[in-house]
Amino acid sequence: MSDTPIAQFLRPGIASASPYDARHHDFAWRHRELDRLMSNECPLPPSRSVIAAATAALEIANFYPNSGEDLRAAIAAFNGVEPSSVILGNGSTEVLDVVTRSFVGPGDEVVISVPTYAFFESQTRLYGGEPLLVPMTDDFRFDVPAILAAVNVRTKVIFLCSPNNPTGNSWTGAELEAVLAAGVPTVVDQAYLECGDAPSFAALVAAHPNLIVTRTMSKAFGLAALRLGYGIASPVLVDAFLRLRIPFSLSLVALRAGLAAMEHPEELEERRAFITAERRRVMAALLEMPGLKPFPSEGNFILIDVSGTGRTSGDIVDFARRENMLLRAMTAHRLRDAFVRVTIGTVDQNDRFIDVFGRAIAGGPQAPAPEPALTGGAMNRLTGRAATEKDRPAAALRG
Ligand code: PMP
Repeated sequence: MSDTPIAQFLRPGIASASPYDARHHDFAWRHRELDRLMSNECPLPPSRSVIAAATAALEIANFYPNSGEDLRAAIAAFNGVEPSSVILGNGSTEVLDVVTRSFVGPGDEVVISVPTYAFFESQTRLYGGEPLLVPMTDDFRFDVPAILAAVNVRTKVIFLCSPNNPTGNSWTGAELEAVLAAGVPTVVDQAYLECGDAPSFAALVAAHPNLIVTRTMSKAFGLAALRLGYGIASPVLVDAFLRLRIPFSLSLVALRAGLAAMEHPEELEERRAFITAERRRVMAALLEMPGLKPFPSEGNFILIDVSGTGRTSGDIVDFARRENMLLRAMTAHRLRDAFVRVTIGTVDQNDRFIDVFGRAIAGGPQAPAPEPALTGGAMNRLTGRAATEKDRPAAALRG
């Protein structure tokens, strides 16, 4: 056997690449007692008909799944496009990954409007591309001239997000068309579209062969664990993307559940109405609190500038954690230590959030009795045993 270290067989860049950081999810799964208002999940579980369809699919799980032509057709009809313009994915992350792999290799550049979903940048780097991060304006508007100025002959993709995670605002059709005019493949991630009233850009695909819209059933549809997303693009691109997607990447359970969800658009509207009403209620409460700047959002989350309170995002996230509530400090989105993001939860969770957040920005009082210090010697609330390094929330929740 040769003495070559095994890592040297890896493609250049892989050993040094930092993948999308999902530690906050794992932390929440280890601590089911916590209110998980940190990762923009839907607080509403799937409906009975969706659960029934998923359960029925389990009965025939000995077979490989089909390719989901029925779900593809239902999604196409839902969006007013042809089925040949739709690609299903194992979550929209699979679609985003396939899109990045299709266009980006070593030496290529990718323009990303930031702050935004970190996956665009992590996948770009993983495939050897160079991300050019274009900051939004100081008041979190999309900087179209700066995005266009960043485009050059090496640019292979532009990533946009509407409504944008974490700022919550959405692109206008006119802003998007200005970017599309550059002629570069442009992804608009619309994961949060069904959480509010932002415009869908699906219909623009017919006139713009460089537009790729991604969507998901993880958010308003409430099917995050099933991993069901899709992309809408010109049939030429969809055909190329399908070559790169792993065969059978969507389970039969997901395909059948997704189809059942698509059969009840009125349930989606109820979900949208619930999220919208609760987002407005939480927003109104935040606007009453001194020193806060919450940003209007069309997603199932609100970004809050806490710099006027004299507390850092880390202080507030740690305070909430001691009250069994997970929030997200947005340092990963280059937002320093001044921004906290909260996901809209159930009515009870939102009530609790308003109470906890109000006390957190005032610096207390803490209720119930605080846990042992979080750094060093923390206890695992479920087992009563000393927490391991993995149980320390700070790293997982800060950004
Ligand atoms: N896009 C954005 C903007 C997101 O915030 C997320 C997840 N938080 C995703 C995509 C991932 O969605 P999916 O579950 O469809 O992979």
